Amino acid sequence: MKRFDGKVVAVTGGNQGIGFAIAERFASEGASVAIASVDEQVHEAAGQLKAATGATVLPVVCDVTSVSDVKNLYSTIESTLGGIDISVQNAGIITIAKVEDLTEAEWDDTMEVNTKGVFLCCQEAIRYMRKSGGGALINTASGQARDGFIYTPHYAASKFGVVGITQSLAKEVATDNITVNAICPGIISTDMWDYNDRVWGEMLGEYAPGELMAEWVQNIPMKRAGEGKDVAGLVAFLASADADYITGQTINVDGGLIMS
Ligand code: NDP
Repeated sequence: MKRFDGKVVAVTGGNQGIGFAIAERFASEGASVAIASVDEQVHEAAGQLKAATGATVLPVVCDVTSVSDVKNLYSTIESTLGGIDISVQNAGIITIAKVEDLTEAEWDDTMEVNTKGVFLCCQEAIRYMRKSGGGALINTASGQARDGFIYTPHYAASKFGVVGITQSLAKEVATDNITVNAICPGIISTDMWDYNDRVWGEMLGEYAPGELMAEWVQNIPMKRAGEGKDVAGLVAFLASADADYITGQTINVDGGLIMS
């Protein structure tokens, strides 16, 4: 008997990076998993996940900023996999710019994906979870929901927003047997962090690729960057029966970088 046998899980941004690692964890622990992303590449990622785990994997192209796409995501999951027990709102984007250069479009896009996208998915998932008697929602925030970094006020605002959504919804659905929690990854080796390393590195000094990350990793008490599987472990715990009495919380997964 595996921990998530019979469970249906949705992971947005599940085709790569942290989201793929989360999807892989659930799939390897018995769940049927729907992975959603904007890119058609999600089909290829689903094939890899199925081959690696043997699980049922449903790829869905979905822009989390679109109400109709999000509605289609959850209705497809229900009609194909029979319901939704766990939904992980993980899709996110970042740009890095000095305050005088940050464009309105960057602000809007970041808030749309990182904040509105999380809300829209929670809203839709809750409709199904209320009907079926409960579930677990996990929202990906960031260390930037604790401490805003330089050149990313829009990203920090979007991730602080995720914590607000998490707390407000957790209170609203607390008696519906639905938990809502947020996670704050620190420095996790993914494409997003490669972008961060390159662009912050260029803006903060004469850093060669990889040097800024190496320097920041020295500030992590555990002296290593995280991997997707480090984040997946926390998400799986929050989605498990062991976390039934945990809701409205925001938990760091960052090797001790930010302690709170
Ligand atoms: P990646 O850039 O590797 O992956 C981002 C994912 O989000 C991709 O799957 C992408 O899909 C998806 N996505 C982007 N826009 C949309 C959209 N409009 N609709 C649906 N999906 C979308 O990032 P990470 O894996 O590193 O990050 C995952 C989450 O973790 C993000 O929310 C990020 O902010 C957060 N985070 C990451 C940290 C890190 O160090 N890596 C640290 C703290 C937080 P597609 O490929 O189709 O574009």
